[in-house]
Amino acid sequence: MTTPIVPLLIGGELVQSASTTLIPVTNPATQEILARVPFATAAEVERAVSAAKSAFESWKETPVGERARLMLRYQALLKEHHDEIAELLAQESGKTFEDAKGDVWRGIEVVEHACNVASLGMGETVENVARKIDCYSITQPLGVCVGITPFNFPAMIPLWMFPLAIACGNTFVLKPSEQDPLTPMRLAQLFQQAGAPAGLLQVVHGGKEVVNQLLNHPDTPAISFVGSVAVGEHIYRTGTAQMKRVQAFAGAKNHMVVMPDASKNQVLNALAGASVGAAGQRCMAISVAVFVGRSRDWIPELRDALAKVRPGAWNDPAAGYGPLINPQAKERVLRLIQEGKEAGAECLLDGTECVVDGYPDGNWIGPTLFRQVTPEMSIYREEIFGPVLIALEVDSLEQAIALINANPYGNGTSIFTASGAAARKYQHEIKVGQVGINVPVPVPLPMFSFTGWRKSFYGDQHAYGKQAVRFYTETKTVTARWFEEDSDTGVNTTIQLK
Ligand code: NAD
Repeated sequence: MTTPIVPLLIGGELVQSASTTLIPVTNPATQEILARVPFATAAEVERAVSAAKSAFESWKETPVGERARLMLRYQALLKEHHDEIAELLAQESGKTFEDAKGDVWRGIEVVEHACNVASLGMGETVENVARKIDCYSITQPLGVCVGITPFNFPAMIPLWMFPLAIACGNTFVLKPSEQDPLTPMRLAQLFQQAGAPAGLLQVVHGGKEVVNQLLNHPDTPAISFVGSVAVGEHIYRTGTAQMKRVQAFAGAKNHMVVMPDASKNQVLNALAGASVGAAGQRCMAISVAVFVGRSRDWIPELRDALAKVRPGAWNDPAAGYGPLINPQAKERVLRLIQEGKEAGAECLLDGTECVVDGYPDGNWIGPTLFRQVTPEMSIYREEIFGPVLIALEVDSLEQAIALINANPYGNGTSIFTASGAAARKYQHEIKVGQVGINVPVPVPLPMFSFTGWRKSFYGDQHAYGKQAVRFYTETKTVTARWFEEDSDTGVNTTIQLK
């Protein structure tokens, strides 16, 4: 059987790329080649932007109810195909089926939210800002918006972007991760099936050349990016230097603080799930546990809890998580584990020799736990993006807060405690954008926004929620006076409205 080639979506048509550069899309548990993905040619990228630009002319005039109804139909189709999408997602990303379902579901929730676009995009009105003068604001779409997405949430993150952007009246060009493009492609096909007019959504595949062409194109006023810090900084600097609107969600190092008054079993379960779930390949994964005071006595039991989590293939219902996305990612994590050991950290649980029966070629790493780690070690400084947890020990909540605030990242954090006062102090003083109180992975639902801080986010307006609507629209403020009769009020040379 010949390996399928992933098509592009341009102007409402699935097209085969003319590119001669193709890379394999593999199942990370077996290395089986599922498809080959082409890196779109410059002419194809140009056609994608131009299709989006011409579709924008009529879409921006489409009534808001019609735009919302497209999202309602899309939401229904996504729900109908939920498990099928999750199965595809699990095979190309390596996630377990249950985790893949969560990835799809968290995306569907954003589509549901986009159905409220009329209320979300409402402007404001003040009557009589001066005598018989009213002032009101309206929101209008920007044009062709671009989304560049990472491998680790191939359903949720594209769905953070194009549904809301399009519901707001924009058109969109998506450049999904070249490592798992089958899921975003399926999402795009279902969007067409929901009745999206041609040109609303295009999908082009590729790597940095395609990204840079979209980033530097004169007809793409808004860029949404999610991925690593190095690329995020490049996207943000390049886009904003061209006066574009950019939101760039980047890497993370998320800490969970464990107070001695917390429920021990809750802590152990939360830490095991939040650190190695999805093989640690989540931007909100907990990668550092900060034990305060005598809670450090629980570290041996944490080791036992982690040792019980077993990686496995996507269709193994007992698997706690799957393989890493590719052999290079595995090599990188192995190198960091080795560096940790050489720097003197104590490896309490070592997953480097992990084997999974029946899957000799998978990119496996078992749960790994370090203690005696210092802030200058690379395992603490760098985002590992693997199933590796670091246990740090401090004497007070103040020390925990100072340590976390000194870390350059600010995506997510959590505190486990029975004390309202400790939780309140933590939520107030911590310089991290998403805080969980006895909740290990505090990803906000779409009525809020995904609000990473510091090195985890470059930009002003975050993903989904009201902030995304602001990101994808321009506000126009109108000051209006209507004359009931012809009258002569004289020339006014001041700036005051009278
Ligand atoms: P990545 O930065 O390698 O790739 C992201 C996207 O950028 C892909 O579409 C890729 O093709 C493109 N890209 C890669 N190199 C590029 C270059 N040099 N120039 C232009 N474009 C380039 O990230 P990844 O490995 O796919 O995803 C993992 C990273 O994403 C982690 O760092 C993780 O923390 C981060 N992430 C962050 C969030 C968040 O909300 N903060 C969410 C998910 C993932």
